[in-house]
Amino acid sequence: MIFIHYEVNCTSCKKTFKLFEGEEQYKQLKERKSRLFYCEGCKHKIRFDTIRNFFSYY
Ligand SMILES: [Zn+2]
Repeated sequence: MIFIHYEVNCTSCKKTFKLFEGEEQYKQLKERKSRLFYCEGCKHKIRFDTIRNFFSYY
């Protein structure tokens, strides 16, 4: 089975990673809605920071 994918650079850590068909960021790339892409590691980090900021607000 062949997976269609694009290789993109992570906006945060500049690491090259693959976007596979069906992923949210793949759709954004294809429809050119976004030019900012984050690898799995950075996505988790950003999500964690968002939650932490959310809680420190209260
Ligand atoms: Zn990254």
